[in-house]
Amino acid sequence: MAQPIHPAPPAHWVQPPLPLLPAKPSTPGNVRTVINTITVLKAHKIRLHPTAEQEAYLRRACGTRRFIFNWGLAEWQRQYAAGEQPSAAALKKQFNRLRGVEFPWTYDVTKCVVEGAFDDLGKAFSNFFAKRAQYPKFKKKGRSQESFYLSNDKFTIGDHWVQVPVLGDFIIKQREAQGEPITKRAQLKRRLGKINLAEKLRFTGTSGTTDKTSTMSTMSTTSKIMGATIRCEAGWWFLSVQVQVQVAQTPVEGPAVGIDLGFMRLATLSDDTRFENQKPLRHLLAQMRFLNQQLARRQQGSKNREKTKRKLARLHYRIRCLRDDLLHKMAHQITERYSFIGLETLNVRGMFQNRQRALSASDAALGRLARLIETKAQAHGTCVQRVGRFFPSTKRCHRCHHLRDIAEDERTYVCFNPACGWTGDRDLNAALNILEEALRLASLNL
Ligand SMILES: [Zn+2]
Repeated sequence: MAQPIHPAPPAHWVQPPLPLLPAKPSTPGNVRTVINTITVLKAHKIRLHPTAEQEAYLRRACGTRRFIFNWGLAEWQRQYAAGEQPSAAALKKQFNRLRGVEFPWTYDVTKCVVEGAFDDLGKAFSNFFAKRAQYPKFKKKGRSQESFYLSNDKFTIGDHWVQVPVLGDFIIKQREAQGEPITKRAQLKRRLGKINLAEKLRFTGTSGTTDKTSTMSTMSTTSKIMGATIRCEAGWWFLSVQVQVQVAQTPVEGPAVGIDLGFMRLATLSDDTRFENQKPLRHLLAQMRFLNQQLARRQQGSKNREKTKRKLARLHYRIRCLRDDLLHKMAHQITERYSFIGLETLNVRGMFQNRQRALSASDAALGRLARLIETKAQAHGTCVQRVGRFFPSTKRCHRCHHLRDIAEDERTYVCFNPACGWTGDRDLNAALNILEEALRLASLNL
């Protein structure tokens, strides 16, 4: 019944090893000096093991959130058409006035759901106005991400459990409706309201015991819980906790590096370290194609269709995990080794517009890698210098700055300047250009 989260990869697929970087220069006594303490936001995603009754509540909360979001969006559109100026905060007030009369069933779940739905609506519109996203869409059951938000003062986390608000009441009501006698109500409510966690929350700075009467937000002086999201992915439930942590910055002693990110090869560093693209999506694509064909053959609404759908969702989930694992390891290796990092600014949206490339772009998740490098570098106080999007890193010869056009499939750069004539790997040339430009830009900022 219970399937492992990370099933073994297929036998024919062997994960190529990450390139071995030369050993880190050792610091005296191997003790790193702390230069500064900074506050960063981290997230820990933990698998939940809800009982069937608890799962019903989680589904209800997700459905309620979807309903409220859609209600808000429809009302926004109506008010906008009527020449008014809608806002998420005003809509929330309006909804809360109507709630008791028109939507009493929304009281079955925690009020965080209402707040989260209007926050999401507000964010969706501000992203749209800032041209970061498309116009907000209505959420469809089974199509959209099923999730809801919990604010930090509404839930408690223990060693291996999370106390979800209103959950205990919800289950007791359901049991009462079925005519089950309820005794020791308060005790039962507490017990039913706790969902089992697959692992302990990280980043909280306490070890072992938890004070049962206090919430996690007061547990440790160095970390603070900011909120959490419960979501359903591939039929599994997850709790994602956002924690604000104090991080001691420890500088890395090492050289400067420029990084060229690409599709053919994931990353090429200016010292010629190469990270090949393992393309987890490509490897599992055949399997995905098969499942997609199977899904198309299954009858609408049949049990077998649901089964195939779930298999497909789990395949997507596995690909995400494989990719995330690789990106995290790469970002870690790079940030542990270099004291200065030059990165190009990627036009991620432009990459997805090119349909032929869209597959490899989503596969490599270059934008995510760049962001990971930036966040991990923060912990060392390492400078990450972005190079402008229009800097001709691929066209320029790093040695003589001669410019030439180079086709997408040309893997070798040959400099056309007769006085130079440098020949070498195309991405290495780009990485060296990025390093030089990043160092120049960083010196301007000083
Ligand atoms: Zn040249």
